[in-house]
Amino acid sequence: MSTHTVNATQAHDSMFDAVLARLDVAAKLMNLSDEVLQVLRNPSKQVKVSLPIMMDNGKIQVFEGYRTVHSTHLGPSKGGIRYAMDVNADEVMALAAWMSFKCAVANLPYGGAKGGIKCEPRNMSVGELERLSRAYAVSMKDVFGVNRDIPAPDMGTSGREMAWILDEFNKINGEDSPGVITGKPIAIGGSLGRDAATGRGVMVNTLAALKKMNLKANEVTAVVQGFGNVGSHAARLLSEKGVKIVGIGDHTASFYNEKGIDIAAAIDFAAKNNRVLKGFKGATEIKAEELLTSKCDVLVPAALQNVITEENAGKIQAKLIVEGANGPTTPEADPILNDKKIICVPDILANSGGVTVSYFEWVQNKAGYYWTEEEVNTKHDLKMEIAFEAVWNNATQFKTGMRIAAYITALQKIEQGVKLKGAY
Ligand code: NAD
Repeated sequence: MSTHTVNATQAHDSMFDAVLARLDVAAKLMNLSDEVLQVLRNPSKQVKVSLPIMMDNGKIQVFEGYRTVHSTHLGPSKGGIRYAMDVNADEVMALAAWMSFKCAVANLPYGGAKGGIKCEPRNMSVGELERLSRAYAVSMKDVFGVNRDIPAPDMGTSGREMAWILDEFNKINGEDSPGVITGKPIAIGGSLGRDAATGRGVMVNTLAALKKMNLKANEVTAVVQGFGNVGSHAARLLSEKGVKIVGIGDHTASFYNEKGIDIAAAIDFAAKNNRVLKGFKGATEIKAEELLTSKCDVLVPAALQNVITEENAGKIQAKLIVEGANGPTTPEADPILNDKKIICVPDILANSGGVTVSYFEWVQNKAGYYWTEEEVNTKHDLKMEIAFEAVWNNATQFKTGMRIAAYITALQKIEQGVKLKGAY
């Protein structure tokens, strides 16, 4: 495949600029009309709120909250809520745009959005987090809606926060609308299979790519960065398919074992160890920066953004990268990976399993009828395989890498929505 990438000399300090850089390349290659491009270069709604919260020490602390709706051309906007210290307007905007493209690639009837609160959830009590989540829900009461904007978990949030936000939204509206938020606990309208869905999508995409590369799952090794929701399920599901996981890591420690790591044991260890890997004995501890460049066939960055850069891309030994995280590769690293003929299944395809099962959750909430886990997984796997094939075919047709091909796949659908819905 030839390379169509952004200018490697151009630095992208802004994450949203990194999105625009790829968007522009894809738009040019597919001849996207300039009007449609202008619509998509500008998010449709940006909300910033201040959330004063009574902390456990009796003092008020003010937190910044965000929600950006990037597009609603294919349906109501959809996207997670992130709790992290580096949450800011630019990051939320980038993540919202990626959601538009991700939903379109996965063929879901959604636009894209993202939200976040600048906070360090690991240093907050459960009570403080509950008050913060409820305050955020109140401040976003006119943004969220079952047919308007539907949030979900992201980094630093889980079903627990979704339950608080749903409860607050229901109190405001005086009725139960479980479909206003996805990633909920099962007991209050969550979907079976949602918890593992993003990791499952990473697994399905990895197997689809390996097949194209004429490689078998039980002949390859993998390294997974991040051992939270996405990373731990991806590592578990890949190892269940026969892939030998030789490296894992989180923000506390990284490990390598060429003989293969017992992932069930690592998950069990983390569950009993405050959800972190520090102290795990099933592999040799290595430096954090060595993990991504260690020897493996498949690399799954599933922690945070901007970890594969022009500094380390040249040292990556994997033949295949499957992006579990959002934005793990900088635009400057793309041409280096392309030159090395490393196939990269991009985030907007590779981690779309989560939003796909969120969509199933929303459908089940609307119908008031709930599916078995097997039904969810079967429908999910089929949708992922179709999405992978569409992107692969566009990569071949447009003679480009999978990242730009995924943008083209998304833009082909969103363009129709923009044109059919028209303008004032
Ligand atoms: P999480 O909070 O459950 O886990 C994050 C993991 O990353 C943790 O293991 C943490 O220790 C690790 N980590 C944090 N900083 C690190 C560092 N500096 N070095 C190494 N590891 C580090 O989050 P998650 O839901 O698994 O999300 C991970 C990524 O996947 C994010 O980019 C998120 O946007 C993306 N994503 C998540 C979902 C989902 O359904 N949860 C869906 C699509 C995309």
